[in-house]
Amino acid sequence: MDTTDFHARHEGLLDPALLGKKRVLIVGCGSVGSYLALFLARSGVGTLALRDHDHISVTNLCRTTYTERDVGRPKVDALKEQLRGVRGDLEVDARPVDLRDVDDDEVRTWIDESDLLVAVTDHPPTQARLAALSYHHVPAVFAGVYERGTGGEVIWTAPEETPCYSCVLGAIRDADAPSRGQSDYGIATGQLASEPALGIDILHVTVCAAKIALALLLRGSDAPAAQVLDPSRSVLFVGNSTGWIWREPFETVWARATRRERCVCRLLPGGSTADLITEP
Ligand SMILES: [Zn+2]
Repeated sequence: MDTTDFHARHEGLLDPALLGKKRVLIVGCGSVGSYLALFLARSGVGTLALRDHDHISVTNLCRTTYTERDVGRPKVDALKEQLRGVRGDLEVDARPVDLRDVDDDEVRTWIDESDLLVAVTDHPPTQARLAALSYHHVPAVFAGVYERGTGGEVIWTAPEETPCYSCVLGAIRDADAPSRGQSDYGIATGQLASEPALGIDILHVTVCAAKIALALLLRGSDAPAAQVLDPSRSVLFVGNSTGWIWREPFETVWARATRRERCVCRLLPGGSTADLITEP
């Protein structure tokens, strides 16, 4: 395929040559991760590394990129096929693994190989662990959707420039943000129980996360898409309804957070996460 033609309608907006050299690690290939991966592929990112242990069920079809014929397949395999269908030159490293079975050293290797981490699991301890392992190493984007899709948050971090994910999460809790939904702690997995939410409301949060991911990959270039980040405001609240901080539907609000005194980001790089992960 002619890459000039592929990017003809991005002319002057992105930097495909720069993006073609980038590798992005996406952990979580559900309603946020599947769309986000496709946005990054269509923007010209060179390599996507996908990690998710889940298989596709019928309940996924109303708010992911998957189709009925994918039911029963590992999400990473179906997503790889879709991504390669968009761009045959895209490198995809797809692994159907559960991060709970992977030790810190291996996860850190995946992170170190990448230019950006996108953490979009619905498993709070995994989000916190990825944050602790990545903070001193690569920029990262964390996205989450609130109960019933009323809105969501996108947090981005860059080593030494921003507070870490856990610092920001503490500030969000203090601000009395809407609930992220009910955890099924009764069966002790810590997984968020799947909540009703419209796919379009999840997608609103996903689009913002994808734009922030692109901006992080394009930092230092003149591309307009690189110019949206201010390290002093590293959390974006995306509204789908009115209430809390949203005066109007579809309002987005950037917020500041400061580093906390007792936080994983105060650890030296390379520290173990084993004793640090607390439930957000
Ligand atoms: Zn921190």
